[in-house]
Amino acid sequence: MTSSYAELKEQAFQANLEIPRRGLAIYTFGNVSAFDADRAVFAIKPSGVAYESLTAADMIVVDLDGNMVEGHLRPSSDTKTHAALYRAFRGIGGIVHTHSTYATAWAQARLPIPLYGTTHADHLAEDVPCTALMSADAVAGDYEAETGRQIIDCFRTRDPTQTPMVLVAGHGPFAWGKTAEKAVYHAVVLEELAKIASITQSLAPNTERLPEHLVRKHFERKHGSKAYYGQD
Ligand SMILES: [Zn+2]
Repeated sequence: MTSSYAELKEQAFQANLEIPRRGLAIYTFGNVSAFDADRAVFAIKPSGVAYESLTAADMIVVDLDGNMVEGHLRPSSDTKTHAALYRAFRGIGGIVHTHSTYATAWAQARLPIPLYGTTHADHLAEDVPCTALMSADAVAGDYEAETGRQIIDCFRTRDPTQTPMVLVAGHGPFAWGKTAEKAVYHAVVLEELAKIASITQSLAPNTERLPEHLVRKHFERKHGSKAYYGQD
C-alpha cells in the first residue's frame, strides 16, 4: 500500500541523510522533520535508528499534538519540541536538531554566538540567540514540550523567519527553514558560524561585534525586497 504521506516522508528522509553527510552528528544523534502545513502533520526520524539503516518508509508522521498518524517505529524523542515550534512559528516547513560540536559548545557555555563578521551577517542580522537554562520544575514536567517553550520564549521579541536558529542552553542547537532541506542548510551554517566565532575569540578575546552598517549591508544584500545576491 502506498502512503499518502510518501512525498513528505521522502523529504524528511533526504534531509535526515544530510546530517551525517555534513558531519553534524555521530551515531543516532540528531533529527530532522518536514512539515505539511495544509494537513498539519510532519514526518520525523524514528528514535534511535542509525542513519545508515534508515529508509523513507521508516519516517514517522505525527500531528501537531505529537500523536502518531502513520509509522511502525517510535518517533524521535524530540518530537514534541518540533510540534511546539511548528505551532508557534508560522511559515516554517522544516526543523533540525543536532549536537554539532561547536554550536553545542556555545550552548553549554550558555552564550549567544556573537556576530563578528560578514559570514554571520549574510545569514542573520543578530547574535545567534541562546535560551535561558530550564528550571527544575520545567524539566520535571513535559521536558520536550518545555524545550519548545524555552525556544518560543526566546523568540518573543524576534522573528523566526529572520533568525532561523537558536541554542538551547546546556543542550544544543535547533535550526529551521521554509523546507526541511533549508533547515539543514541553516544547521550547517550555524555550526560553521559557531566554529569561526570560537576561533575568533581564541585569537582575540576582546573582538568587537561587526559594526551595524556592515551587518545591514551583508544581511540586506541576501534578504528582503532589495536583495541582489545570487540568481533568484
Ligand atoms: Zn538533543
